[in-house]
Amino acid sequence: HGWWDKVRVAPKNPIVSVNESFLADPFPHKVNLAMGTYRDDNGKPFTPQCFGDAEAKINRYTLEETNSSEVSSKFVMESVKLAYGNDSFVVREGLYAGVPALSGTGACRLFAEFQRNFYPDSLIHLPDPTWPNHHNIWRQAQIPVKTFHYYDPDTKGLDFDALINDIKNAPDSSIFLLHPCAHNPTGVDSTEEQWREISYQFKVKNHFPFFDMAYQGFSSGDLDKDAAALRIFVEDGHLVGCAQSFAKNMGLFGHKVGCLSVLTRDIKQAAAVKSQLQHIAHSMYSSPPIHGILLVTMILSDPNMKEQWKKEMKIMANRIRAMRTTLHRNLEDLDSSFNWEHITNQVFGVVILHICCFTFCLRKQIMTLVHVPNSGWHVLFSGLAPDQVRHLEKLFHIYMSPDGRIRYAYVEKIGNQFFSHGRCDTKQ
Ligand code: PLP
Repeated sequence: HGWWDKVRVAPKNPIVSVNESFLADPFPHKVNLAMGTYRDDNGKPFTPQCFGDAEAKINRYTLEETNSSEVSSKFVMESVKLAYGNDSFVVREGLYAGVPALSGTGACRLFAEFQRNFYPDSLIHLPDPTWPNHHNIWRQAQIPVKTFHYYDPDTKGLDFDALINDIKNAPDSSIFLLHPCAHNPTGVDSTEEQWREISYQFKVKNHFPFFDMAYQGFSSGDLDKDAAALRIFVEDGHLVGCAQSFAKNMGLFGHKVGCLSVLTRDIKQAAAVKSQLQHIAHSMYSSPPIHGILLVTMILSDPNMKEQWKKEMKIMANRIRAMRTTLHRNLEDLDSSFNWEHITNQVFGVVILHICCFTFCLRKQIMTLVHVPNSGWHVLFSGLAPDQVRHLEKLFHIYMSPDGRIRYAYVEKIGNQFFSHGRCDTKQ
């Protein structure tokens, strides 16, 4: 046999496939809506102003200190303060093991490896639905995945009773992944009261909660509010794990800056857990890139820069909320016969639009989007079925991910595309 004869092409990331089809399409007015990143009024990504100052302060000398444990400890300390709160006993008493990670994805993967090392027979319980990569991450780490109830398509909200039942019916001491805020992809979060109940049920069953916090500050515009779920669990005495990402809230996507923290019973345990996390990370990538870590540390440890960043993040969160309100109002103004309340009830830039009748509703939906004044929304979970998405691609050269997720930044373009080619009657 020859080497690699058995290797077949791996399933493609659906977004990558969409981008490839988009690039291959020779049509001059094609539109790509697949990427789910935030854009401002001018179509620009979120880049806090304070980055300029921070960049200027990072010098060559610090960049060359790739293994500096001082830099990494400072970064971890600032990250855990952000997650658990400045005054948290966890931070004060050092009851955590924290390491820098390759953004949210890397933090999840590192935790999955840690889980397999110390609980080789355990499963991960993931919400249904969840960010699709959660399935890949735990599967690649050889950990079986089980899903628990989360979203109810009928109410377009949380299926709380089913969720609680799944928590109760899981074997004692199971590991669950939870989204503390801005659940991706539904935008449906638990209320504070529901979180308290979930935390109570976890206590009864001795389950371990692993929080994947990819959007702190993005949901409400307030870092503390968005970390409330995590802090409820800590108050209730749980040892939790937490993956933090600075991709969205600092606009640092490509820099891959994140932190993994695991709470421990005492300082001795913290040192042991930290050394194991470092050991795993070391075998995978030695140490993470340092530039983004220095940037984040500088911003978080400088009160003026931190305030500036928080202000800008609030503007972004408010903009997303305002856009959602506009969409809701426009749909009502169009006398839509559907109930659109979930648009304003859900948090975050992701909205689920349930389309019942393709031709009629899609036209209405596109019309509505054209009426939205600015074009900087985050993403919209359109609710279009895969064949409807293909239909748009074939007929209108509009590309989106197969699950119907659309980047809002170009909604006006979709409208123009639709109408300027005479393929759709604007007067439905
Ligand atoms: N976790 C969730 C829930 C996400 O939605 C995402 C990104 O979309 C990530 C993790 C990945 O984060 P990062 O880009 O920081 O690796």
